[in-house]
Amino acid sequence: MSENGMLLQLKQVSQQYGSGERRFTAVEEIDLTLAEGEFVALLGPSGCGKSTLLRIITGLQEATSGQILYRERPLRGVNPQATIVFQTFALFPWLTVLENVAMALKAKGMPLDLRTTRSIDALDRVGLDGFENAYPRELSGGMRQKVGFARAMVTEPELLCLDEPFSALDVLSAEALRGELLELWTGGQIPTKAILMVSHNIEEAVFMADRIVVMDENHEETLEIAAAPSTPT
Ligand code: ADP
Ligand code: MG
Repeated sequence: MSENGMLLQLKQVSQQYGSGERRFTAVEEIDLTLAEGEFVALLGPSGCGKSTLLRIITGLQEATSGQILYRERPLRGVNPQATIVFQTFALFPWLTVLENVAMALKAKGMPLDLRTTRSIDALDRVGLDGFENAYPRELSGGMRQKVGFARAMVTEPELLCLDEPFSALDVLSAEALRGELLELWTGGQIPTKAILMVSHNIEEAVFMADRIVVMDENHEETLEIAAAPSTPT
């Protein structure tokens, strides 16, 4: 653990896309910090650069300019301490639920039996006990996203990034899954140190996060709003 519990610092991070006449700025000079114990929502309209910023933070993409520090060190390449849960689940349809989750551990070179026990445990935590051998197509949207969460959590990331994880779900499934995620987080049942959730839903951001960073459509300032605390004690 770093001394002050600071996980992530973005300094004047910008991303441009395209070239020549069509070059445009998708993310402009964003400053953002995230400390251990924080659940921060990144709120903004569609197209304001939220997904781009998450890819930069997890190291899936290199920013055009600016500085990204993870635990006070410049981030180089993919951040092994961070994971993203995607809006559209991104599960492999030809793999079972268990295999989809275990896949995340394969890259870490973990032996098969340990991968299996860890994955079963992760599925248990999100309430999917008994669905290990089902295929994604046999599950509801809410359950598929639970597989997405289990797959992200099984690697025990310090930083859990959520990219509009509830927006592809029906209203009731989204509501239920939000509550369940908050319970896991506030109950300290997951080893995650901080959560960064992208959203375009104000109610969702206020309900879930203890701090909200608003990204402007014109990619200008970020505005910070304190929300109801959900931090584990
Ligand atoms: P958000 O997640 O807030 O909806 P995105 O980060 O997906 O926003 O996109 C921000 C802007 O950058 C959009 O105009 C989008 O079309 C554009 N964009 C995103 N990714 C790329 C890319 N790889 N190449 C070119 N333009 C992109
Ligand atoms: Mg997006």
